[in-house]
Amino acid sequence: MSEQTRYDKVVDLALRRGLFYPSSELHGAIAGFYDYGSVGSRIKNNWENCWRGFFLRRLGEPFVEIQPAEVAPEKVFEASGHLTQFVDPITECGKCGAVERADHLLESHLKEGFEGLSAKGLGALIKKHKVKCHKCGGDLKEVSVLNMMLSTRIGTGKLSKPAYMRPETTQGVVVNFKREYLINRERLPLGIAVIGRAFRNEIAPRQTLFRMREFTQAEIQVFCDPSELAKHARFSEVATSKIPVVLAKERKKGIQMVSAKALAKEYGEVYAYYMARISEFYASPGLRVRFFEKNEEERAFYNKYQFDIEYEFEDGGWREIAGFHYRTDHDLAGHARVSGQDLSVNRNGKRVIPHIVELSFGVDRNLLALLDAGYREEKKKDEMRVWLSLPPAVAPFTAGVYPLVNKDRLPEKTEEVLQLLRNAGLDVFLDDGGSIGRRYARADEIGVPFGITIDYDTFKDDSVTVRERDSTKQERVKIKVLAEHLKNKLNK
Ligand SMILES: [Zn+2]
Repeated sequence: MSEQTRYDKVVDLALRRGLFYPSSELHGAIAGFYDYGSVGSRIKNNWENCWRGFFLRRLGEPFVEIQPAEVAPEKVFEASGHLTQFVDPITECGKCGAVERADHLLESHLKEGFEGLSAKGLGALIKKHKVKCHKCGGDLKEVSVLNMMLSTRIGTGKLSKPAYMRPETTQGVVVNFKREYLINRERLPLGIAVIGRAFRNEIAPRQTLFRMREFTQAEIQVFCDPSELAKHARFSEVATSKIPVVLAKERKKGIQMVSAKALAKEYGEVYAYYMARISEFYASPGLRVRFFEKNEEERAFYNKYQFDIEYEFEDGGWREIAGFHYRTDHDLAGHARVSGQDLSVNRNGKRVIPHIVELSFGVDRNLLALLDAGYREEKKKDEMRVWLSLPPAVAPFTAGVYPLVNKDRLPEKTEEVLQLLRNAGLDVFLDDGGSIGRRYARADEIGVPFGITIDYDTFKDDSVTVRERDSTKQERVKIKVLAEHLKNKLNK
């Protein structure tokens, strides 16, 4: 049997247990689209709520959340620059007609990254290294560019107008900035968040949730007065935090732990402050990430500073799961120009176009990272025990509740316990099929932290057996303190 990578195993598990699966599979799935199943939807919703809890509530800033439309007229993307600049370099095989991304082709040929290089530069490299079509070995045509937005039309017939599925959630925030600024008492910095879908007509969707054509972003655009980027009111709270960075100018040194204070000297306190907070966000589920700085050639066209936040997959190397960007006034200035409207604001008698500092998270990629980090297996005799060691806050349920048998008043007692836990606000489910061992195994595979078994002793001591997912340790707990007991364990 061929050796499966951990990534393959995670994907297998996801399909088997309803975390996610190919979209429209019944009619022949299209690459780059995945549906979240009953278990995956819970994990995704929980992750999004953790994100909201941390960035929108715990940080305690003037951060608000909006839900802009997913389709926008062409003007929006003319203003943002996506119409002309959101392009991928492609090359077509002159023999078989296969189209591939020129940078990916070079990457697999030369085992180096080429993202961000111009079409011209890529074309020259393809010639120099005599790269041929990967499918048939034929000669490749000149490298050209293809817009990655998914286009559509609104309305019918001659009166219909071109429109696009948003390629990022950002623009829905930028076009509403002025309105939200007024509604939120004209404060800066003002953070406007969106959790929602974005669409890209990827030429090479790959690695399941990793590069999809429809995906979910969780972003905050923080609008700042550009003259106030050097100071942040709460910087002292994070000044000594150490942040794992790979700096563009010192890439050879690899990951360095640099204090927020030192980073602030280079990038300003506002920028360093959010780096520290993002770092904190990842520390709580124990996800090890690094901030990888992109140099001028590699940065997206709208960014002045760009750090990719990367997680090291067990066997796939460091890959981007989030990003932290300084977009300057690129967006507001573009929209002001194209709309003819004044998008500046009054700051102490001066007209100022706010600058955007952007915290951008790929929700699907973050879930993959959590699954990768949490995947465990252990061989016991002939059986392989597989479990997901997910942080309780994102686990699909807190506990499974299992009657030992479906008779002798055990189902009634089980129902009582379920109600008690639900009333205490815990997310629990009933599983009364198969042996207790099988039920534990099923719950372990989807990352449920606790299993609760109701047996005949329950009638004698008014207690249940609580089994912990990671250690498989079991203990008897009185029903009357059960909810409290679980909550205490969750908060540890
Ligand atoms: Zn070919």
